Amino acid sequence: MRNDCFALPPGVNWVPVDEAKERLRAVLPTVSEVEVVSVRDGSGRVLSQDVVALRSNPPAPNSAVDGYGFAFSALSNVEHQSLPLVDGRAAAGVPFSGAVPEGSAIRILTGAILPDGVDTVVLEEDVQIEGCRLFLEGLPKSRANARKAGEDVLAGQVALKQGTALGPPDIALLTALGISTVSVYRKLRVAVLSTGDELVEAGDDISGDHQIFDANRPMLLSMFERLGCETVDMGRLGDDPAVIEEALNRASAQADVIFTSGGASAGDEDHVSRLLKEKGNLASWRIALKPGRPLALAVWNGAPVFGLPGNPVAAFVCALVFGTPALAKISGASWQEPSRFQVPAAFQKTKKQGRREFLRARLTPEGHAEVFQSEGSGRISGLSWAEGLVELPDGAAQI
Ligand code: AMP
Ligand code: MG
Repeated sequence: MRNDCFALPPGVNWVPVDEAKERLRAVLPTVSEVEVVSVRDGSGRVLSQDVVALRSNPPAPNSAVDGYGFAFSALSNVEHQSLPLVDGRAAAGVPFSGAVPEGSAIRILTGAILPDGVDTVVLEEDVQIEGCRLFLEGLPKSRANARKAGEDVLAGQVALKQGTALGPPDIALLTALGISTVSVYRKLRVAVLSTGDELVEAGDDISGDHQIFDANRPMLLSMFERLGCETVDMGRLGDDPAVIEEALNRASAQADVIFTSGGASAGDEDHVSRLLKEKGNLASWRIALKPGRPLALAVWNGAPVFGLPGNPVAAFVCALVFGTPALAKISGASWQEPSRFQVPAAFQKTKKQGRREFLRARLTPEGHAEVFQSEGSGRISGLSWAEGLVELPDGAAQI
């Protein structure tokens, strides 16, 4: 990446969230290396090419139910009629080898290829069998319960597009279509580090009340792992520019993207933003966003750096709103935002106009959004309580 790619045009002071996302989307690169993996190992991987079906699904016309098959054209237009049954049956694993004569019926099971002479199947629950005859209760529809060859996907069709992040259903689809290996982008490597003299490691002994456990790093690592990234844990650093600089050097050598937390604003101990300004072409975007206004964006030895705020709630919101779509873009899956939909508010709020706000929220059983009782950005329990975020538009004032 170019060093100055996050620079804002002169005069831009507050950046609205949508504009910030648009700017990021425009400058972020996509990994170019690809590799071939087995479909079984493809979960979470991003296709680097369209995938074309090698086989149709289903490959042959077959029955959707357990029942009896015949040619519809042989039926007469009366309510009660019967057809002789041929010897043998058609099953999914054992196709019927002969043809069913016009006017006869055959026992057929789900998934069995329709034998020659069969285009319609009735459910076994809807008929009577007496001796070797099938008695119909009513008139079925022509081609009832018959699946056409290729009705799902035809051989030669594009089954999945380049940029698709494979989930379990995609793995089923590719496998059904006869595909056992796919070409995917290589996994993104994401480095995470925390800064702050007050931070101690989970499980460490505490020597003073000023010390707090580093909660951001494990949170971010698990977030990025869930996104299918390989993570590089760069540890917890004090507020020491030389140490942070050395860590950024190592991180940029090992990872494609770097996430830091803490020290991102303009205070005395905000060494991350100072260092990035001096050596990483910092663009400190003051984003019209609550929580999490300062988002320090920089390029360190070619790797984009997301300098997240230290408050865990702000760090989480920034990582979710900007980091997740950004990582999707860099991994080859194109910019993907969390899905959102409009629901009634089960709360009231007066909001400052001109900024986007995110509240920790849950859906009630009626589908209304309720929010955490406090907006304090150190309240990690509210993040844990929430199932999602309420996004309040920039222009909203009274909710
Ligand atoms: P900072 O952005 O460094 O000014 O930090 C803002 C607030 O977040 C301070 O109260 C920090 O102690 C707290 N904080 C910073 N980093 C972390 C972290 N990794 N885990 C938990 N709290 C943090
Ligand atoms: Mg700090």
